[in-house]
Amino acid sequence: MHEKGLLIVLSGPSGVGKGTVRKAIFTQEDTSFEYSISATTRSPREGEVHGVDYFFESRETFEKLIEQDKLLEFAEYVGNYYGTPVDYVRETLDAGKDVFLEIEVQGARQVREKFPEGLFIFLAPPSLSELKNRIVTRGTETEDLINNRMLTAREEIEMMDLYDFVVENDQVDLACERIKSIVVAEHCRRERVQHRYKKMLEVD
Ligand code: 5GP
Repeated sequence: MHEKGLLIVLSGPSGVGKGTVRKAIFTQEDTSFEYSISATTRSPREGEVHGVDYFFESRETFEKLIEQDKLLEFAEYVGNYYGTPVDYVRETLDAGKDVFLEIEVQGARQVREKFPEGLFIFLAPPSLSELKNRIVTRGTETEDLINNRMLTAREEIEMMDLYDFVVENDQVDLACERIKSIVVAEHCRRERVQHRYKKMLEVD
């Protein structure tokens, strides 16, 4: 019997570039995980294809999916529903393949409750680490603007609590590399592999 795959969840504040990083990861040939295509009630943007970028559904259909418990998580974001079809996730994990979700933070919280053993990666904006510099150059910005930035930064830093790893999106290719390295490391985690070795001893 093969082992179950790893559930990888990439999330983070809105506007941080989750979609860009996810697309970059999945254009790389050596990516070995499967992307879970979400359902949404928002309209397709130019070039987006049903069943590739999203499953574009009516509100009615989406609400049926909720009622029938067909979604691992869902959230309302800027007036539209977004959700992760649960069957695909379970079947792919059961087949021993890693599944990658790129979702907003409310959804990630729900997944953490249902799949605490998942790998939760927070994509952080570089502005968080630049914040200190900005405060130093305070003279150039109004106090209101600084206060606003501080408030957003505080909220974003508090969001991190739920996650196992934080990756700064300073450069898309670097962020992708870090995410892939984290996945490799997670596969080597003692708790995940030790049972194999114990089994080896049982055989003898
Ligand atoms: P967009 O409309 O720009 O494609 O996505 C808007 C937001 O919805 C992004 O932050 C994206 O990560 C998030 N999102 C996409 N799919 C899902 C999903 O299945 N569940 C949740 N909770 N968020 C999603």
